[in-house]
Amino acid sequence: MTLQDLQALDEAWVMPTYKRLPVEFVRGEGPHLWDADGKRYLDFLTGISVSSVGHCHPAVVEAVRDQAGRLMHTTNLYLTEPPMRLAERLAMSSLGGRVFFCNSGAEANECAIKLVRKHAHARGIQRPEIVVLDHAFHGRTIATLAGTPQLAREDLFGPLPEGFVVVPRDDPFALEAAVGDSTAAVFIEPVQGECGVHPISCEMLEAARAACNRTGALLAFDEIQTGLGRTGRFWAYQGLGVTPDLLTSAKALGGGMPIGACVTSPELRDVFEPGDHGSTFAGGPVVAAAALAVLDVLDDEALLTRVRELGEKLGERLRACSGVAEVRQRGLMVGIDLSGGRAPDVVLAALEAGLVVNATGPATIRLLPPLVITPEQIDEGFELLAPLL
Ligand SMILES: *Cc1c(COP(=O)(O)O)cnc(C)c1O
Repeated sequence: MTLQDLQALDEAWVMPTYKRLPVEFVRGEGPHLWDADGKRYLDFLTGISVSSVGHCHPAVVEAVRDQAGRLMHTTNLYLTEPPMRLAERLAMSSLGGRVFFCNSGAEANECAIKLVRKHAHARGIQRPEIVVLDHAFHGRTIATLAGTPQLAREDLFGPLPEGFVVVPRDDPFALEAAVGDSTAAVFIEPVQGECGVHPISCEMLEAARAACNRTGALLAFDEIQTGLGRTGRFWAYQGLGVTPDLLTSAKALGGGMPIGACVTSPELRDVFEPGDHGSTFAGGPVVAAAALAVLDVLDDEALLTRVRELGEKLGERLRACSGVAEVRQRGLMVGIDLSGGRAPDVVLAALEAGLVVNATGPATIRLLPPLVITPEQIDEGFELLAPLL
């Protein structure tokens, strides 16, 4: 099939929720993708921070092949080994409580929303509220959409679930004032990804922690994009001096396979009881086996140190480019504001030049290269991108 054939099928049969670029990828290996004509691309987006271990990492492919050949699915009515081992590793790497598995990021946040609401009801709060930051992205299911201010269009998708309170992302006093007796939780992405890589200041994170401590509300970090080494720490919060009560993960966790997780502190290990939550596919043995292989690659101090070093160097070089107004960078999570706008044109020109990047808005380019990338490949990507900025 030609690219035009695929476009015709997309046009005829697929709901038009995505604006797709005119390329068909047929193969991936490490930091590279190949299109149907055999042209090679350097991937500085990794499917939005999913393929952090690179495309088709041999250990992930082997884990999936091996598990798929033995047992793919049983439901959560029974035990299998990979998700039990994965739960232990995720909890031990972070908050030390318990894990709920699901199939995506939005579902991980759905779990967190249900959990903090149940915790609030147990504290006698009848109409629990969740405080979210302006410009946050927590997902596109109905509840997570209600917690995603820029997309929560009541006029298109209403009635949306109640109980979400929005505060500016850079005003600690407004945040403290919004947290009160009805607050179940504050939800924060330590670095807001979808809006163009905006790190939340330590003052905001500390204000959130203090307000939660004062009222008994819970602090939840959405680490779906920032987690698993992306910022140069295994979890972004580990470099920030503020520890949440629960966190959510997805994206890079499955190395390309769909899996999400919600992880709690020990204090919250028994909030859910049997019957409170569930999902048919969640934490299946194939995706969990893939995730265990991913953690073997990413949970590595030497790799995390390199992510910080490569990110800083790339950020510095980008700041020196003439068309660049601002660069925001944490590890290999990079947002570039262009002084002249035209970010979608840059994305197309980069694709033409063999580099995959993404625009989060009319004037912002986002880079999320694989974390296993070499310094030479980072330089190569920069050389391709810089003339286009
Ligand atoms: C991608 C993302 C989500 C949603 O994850 P899906 O797997 O697309 O449902 C939620 N929060 C953050 C911070 C994300 O980056």
